[in-house]
Amino acid sequence: MSEVSDARYANATPAQAEADSAIEPAGVGWERVRRVRVAIVGAGFSGLGMAIRLKQAGLDDFVVLERGDDVGGTWRDNTYPGAACDVPSHLYSFSFAPNPHWSRTYSPQREIRDYVRRTADRRGVRPHIRFGHEVCDASWDEATQQWRITTAQGRFAARMLIFGNGPLAEPSVPAIPGLDRFAGTLFHSARWDHGHDLTGQRVAVIGTGASAIQFVPHIQPRAGHLTLFQRTPPWIVPRLDRPISGRRRTLFRAAPIAQRARRTAIYWQREIGALGLVYRPPMMKAAERIARAHLEARVADPALRAKLTPRYTMGCKRILLSDDFYPALTRDNVEVVTDHIREVRAQSIVTEDGVERPIDTIILATGFHVTDNPIYRRVHGRDGHALTDAWRDGPRAYLGATVAGFPNLFIMVGPNTGLGHTSMVFMIESQLAYILDCLRVMDRRGLGAVDVRSDVQDAYNDELQRRMRRTVWASGCASWYLAANGRNTTLWPGFTWEYRLRTRRFDPKNYNVTPQTAPTR
Ligand SMILES: Cc1cc2nc3c(=O)[nH]c(=O)nc-3n(C[C@H](O)[C@H](O)[C@H](O)COP(=O)(O)OP(=O)(O)OC[C@H]3O[C@@H](n4cnc5c(N)ncnc54)[C@H](O)[C@@H]3O)c2cc1C
Repeated sequence: MSEVSDARYANATPAQAEADSAIEPAGVGWERVRRVRVAIVGAGFSGLGMAIRLKQAGLDDFVVLERGDDVGGTWRDNTYPGAACDVPSHLYSFSFAPNPHWSRTYSPQREIRDYVRRTADRRGVRPHIRFGHEVCDASWDEATQQWRITTAQGRFAARMLIFGNGPLAEPSVPAIPGLDRFAGTLFHSARWDHGHDLTGQRVAVIGTGASAIQFVPHIQPRAGHLTLFQRTPPWIVPRLDRPISGRRRTLFRAAPIAQRARRTAIYWQREIGALGLVYRPPMMKAAERIARAHLEARVADPALRAKLTPRYTMGCKRILLSDDFYPALTRDNVEVVTDHIREVRAQSIVTEDGVERPIDTIILATGFHVTDNPIYRRVHGRDGHALTDAWRDGPRAYLGATVAGFPNLFIMVGPNTGLGHTSMVFMIESQLAYILDCLRVMDRRGLGAVDVRSDVQDAYNDELQRRMRRTVWASGCASWYLAANGRNTTLWPGFTWEYRLRTRRFDPKNYNVTPQTAPTR
């Protein structure tokens, strides 16, 4: 792939990189923008993984457009107390960048963020990253077979556009009447206000998802009073997190094969989880018994236990892992409220039963815009329509990556690539291989544009939705996995190795292909 290399980018210092992405003067034509072969949006696992794999393949002509001021994505933004991974670190990391230094089974946020930073440095991709470059618009230009990309700090044109903007990167703020009139401190768990001292405060936490169960045990001892507003109790199983001994770490450093073996063992243990979630939901009953025993062992009060007992099949919503959440809820300064919130007032929250609770700080643990990510309004394809128009009935793509009418566009961790049982990094690496193979095929055949055939995309999505019917996710709960029309557009209904096999090769038969008409860059 050397014909697409660009030494200017490969050798650019960050300062040079900033200079060449300077703000375009108003009214400048697209002929004056920075042209690259590939533009990547986001510098999380997806975007950085793509950048590293491109570099390994000898392709240096790419840019990573990142709205933040550092790499890390999820692990840069979610700094709440207790933030950590729910997948063992040996598996939640790049296969091509093993880290023998993980300190615990489930790494804390800071360690993952540092791992991502280190990996970006060691693999030499930082010079390609333009920080503070939020992508505001991306439109396909048929004449030049390029994406025209407008960012907060200048414009770019790219033959291929890869979105690694993150499935859980846009915090969702609930539409609770009066929330905007709250006079105390208010923040989302993904934008933690570390300057705000919770000591002695009357704190309200709204939501009991994966983030809340991690930070509640950490803030409960400091808060004067903590009110936890719960809509649906999650199923929670023991986390069993433990330190990785120094001896083991030395072994992993000296013999990387030992760590690879551990990673493989964890992978297959986790894959068994797909059996219950996807193929045999009744199998979840056994796991429910473990979760119930966990709740009973930690919560003695029958009334509180009743509030915390889920009434849907385990796995229908995300299964959570915690050893300290239930104990925190049994403390004297904690109240679990299951009545719906009617309104927020300047200094209080009022529930449907009319009870008003004075509150100093509200922490929203209300998740993310998953199926309605606002970025998709800014992406315009072949006919000028936005991705949101194509997705009026919910997000859909082929292999969770390409969308008919949007040539040379790849969405990493796109529709139906999410998982309930194992590491997203495995799915990300599958997509990296697919995109790289697409680039190879385009080069070999002299293609200027590849656009997935709509019949292929439809058949693929019909298959997924057919498979979805027998999964635990279709067993009747409301969850963020589902789009507004009730379709599960988020999760992959199978084993992850199947996805790996299906993305191993880019097959141009599934695409409408156009020969290259414009110059290479
Ligand atoms: C709190 C939390 C815990 C999680 N725990 C797990 C776990 O245990 N196991 C697991 O498998 N997954 C977990 N996930 C999912 C996690 O998001 C993925 O595993 C993975 O980090 C996704 O990487 P990504 O690069 O695709 O997205 P992200 O890490 O979200 O990175 C996206 C990047 O794109 C940038 N960006 C977004 N929009 C724009 C724009 N318009 N212009 C420019 N840049 C933009 C963002 O600033 C960000 O840096 C968790 C997610 C959260 C929020």
